[in-house]
Amino acid sequence: MFRRRARGAREERRPLTRDTCMAAACGVSDAVRCGYRDRRGRHCATFWCSQHGSTALGRAYCRRHATTIDALSGADVSEGMPDLENRAPSLVGWVSRELDQAVRLALLRHSTPGSRLVVDPVRLTVRSGMDRRWHRRWKLVDHTGILRGVAVEVDEGDDSRVVTRVDSQVIGRSLPPWIEQRRRGHALTPEADADNRRWFSDTLMRSIELVVDREEVAPRYRR
Ligand SMILES: [Zn+2]
Ligand SMILES: [Zn+2]
Repeated sequence: MFRRRARGAREERRPLTRDTCMAAACGVSDAVRCGYRDRRGRHCATFWCSQHGSTALGRAYCRRHATTIDALSGADVSEGMPDLENRAPSLVGWVSRELDQAVRLALLRHSTPGSRLVVDPVRLTVRSGMDRRWHRRWKLVDHTGILRGVAVEVDEGDDSRVVTRVDSQVIGRSLPPWIEQRRRGHALTPEADADNRRWFSDTLMRSIELVVDREEVAPRYRR
């Protein structure tokens, strides 16, 4: 058993680099292996052609891991790269990139003299007894502390729910429709997938704006 595991580990150090693209009905034979390697030293075993794969920082990845790499550029990854199969950092990265400009504008509408916007990179929070949580935060701050804040979060233990917060309050726990469809075994066309994603980020943003702009009932956020 130990010998088998050791051989597996050696194979993982010398991964195949070319094979058939794994996208349905693609068939391109010189697809490139995703370059992702997680904190346990495991390589992503998927192969993608240039049309169905993606790149991040000049290297080829599957789409999920390209989003993970993009999301984590500038982040503290001293804990190591997220587990291969975990969707949390990629989902936080994608959602926060989609919402970024609109969240900045929403918060800046409430800026006061002396306040400024601080945008954190995607970060991991590890607390004992709790799920590892990936999140990104936008904060309007002044010398007294945080005036207003928006955050998107995904827990590794429930990596299909996007939690949105305004100030310290959770305002939504949303299951992205494309994840729900995939769970039900429905394949989405690229157009339907793009529509779903646009609808989802627009809906999240509207709910965030509603709460951010409802200034008189939102509690001031202090830490
Ligand atoms: Zn392909
Ligand atoms: Zn991958």
